[in-house]
Amino acid sequence: MLIEKIKNLDIGEVLENEPMKGHTTFRVGGPVDIFIRPKDEESLIMLMKLLKEEGVTPFILGQGSNLLVSDSGLRGVVICIHKALTDIYLDGETLYTGAGNSVPDVAKYAQRNSLSNMEEVSGIPGSIGGAVVMNAGAYGGEFKDFVKNVKVLTRDLEVKYIDNQDMDFRYRGSAVLDEGYIVLGANLSLRKRDQKEIDELMADYTNRRVTKQPLNYPSAGSTFKRPEGYYAAALIESSGLKGLVHRGAMVSDKHSGFVINHDNATYKDVIELIRLIQKEVKDKHGISLETEVKIIGEDK
Ligand SMILES: Cc1cc2nc3c(=O)[nH]c(=O)nc-3n(C[C@H](O)[C@H](O)[C@H](O)COP(=O)(O)OP(=O)(O)OC[C@H]3O[C@@H](n4cnc5c(N)ncnc54)[C@H](O)[C@@H]3O)c2cc1C
Repeated sequence: MLIEKIKNLDIGEVLENEPMKGHTTFRVGGPVDIFIRPKDEESLIMLMKLLKEEGVTPFILGQGSNLLVSDSGLRGVVICIHKALTDIYLDGETLYTGAGNSVPDVAKYAQRNSLSNMEEVSGIPGSIGGAVVMNAGAYGGEFKDFVKNVKVLTRDLEVKYIDNQDMDFRYRGSAVLDEGYIVLGANLSLRKRDQKEIDELMADYTNRRVTKQPLNYPSAGSTFKRPEGYYAAALIESSGLKGLVHRGAMVSDKHSGFVINHDNATYKDVIELIRLIQKEVKDKHGISLETEVKIIGEDK
């Protein structure tokens, strides 16, 4: 049995029938057959070798802050990198961070060392791996602006570094997503700056998030990508959908671009509301909203 072979490797935390709602910021999602958090890079490589031999392709999970998982969950294996690969150190103005550290923690580490460039992204509640893969961004800054290179594990189990210019960074995407690599870590190019200026900028961006986003409810952030030339939130609001409740799911009345889990929402509640928003916006404005949130799982 695969589970026995995995347990015999002694590579870290291995859980069976683990509910994904406990590993996503939406707090939605049924169980995954096997959930693994490897204890280090070596363990991850050993695990990937076994899975390759067994013909199993795992789903790579970060902090689960951009995911909507179906109620029947995922068959197979989820490997969680968040809190797994957590090295962090400085070499001059270059900061190396493992993929399992959270973005806000790394931004605070940079701040403590008077290093600038992460202020805009400092409130994104994902892991470094997820943020690199997605080229996460906010307030005019994106990961592509300060990633020097990315350490990945390829499908052939080769560890290599990919330079920024070869990462094909784009709006919420990158080469890693296309190639199915696993991000192990990244070198970030930062620059010395007056500590007080960094403090002020970070406080300003945090304040903007707290005042504009429904952070007291579970969600996966902006549900939809920004359509060319428009704002998803404005289109949703002018379609009369702000505050709309569909069973446990709701269009936030604080920020219409967020579908939130306001009362024990299931996947079904959320996906039905997403489809309704897409239909209404298309009917009223002729614009197709594409989800930024990744929808995964069986029966999705
Ligand atoms: C309240 C809130 C606010 C948000 N604000 C923003 C924002 O301002 N800007 C923004 O861009 N996003 C925002 N997001 C969305 C989300 O935080 C980002 O997309 C984040 O980068 C996702 O990281 P994650 O670790 O949670 O990835 P996950 O959601 O776990 O995964 C996302 C994708 O990345 C892949 N992945 C994750 N880790 C790895 C890895 N190590 N190697 C290979 N693939 C990997 C997954 O397979 C999946 O395809 C917000 C979300 C919330 C809940």
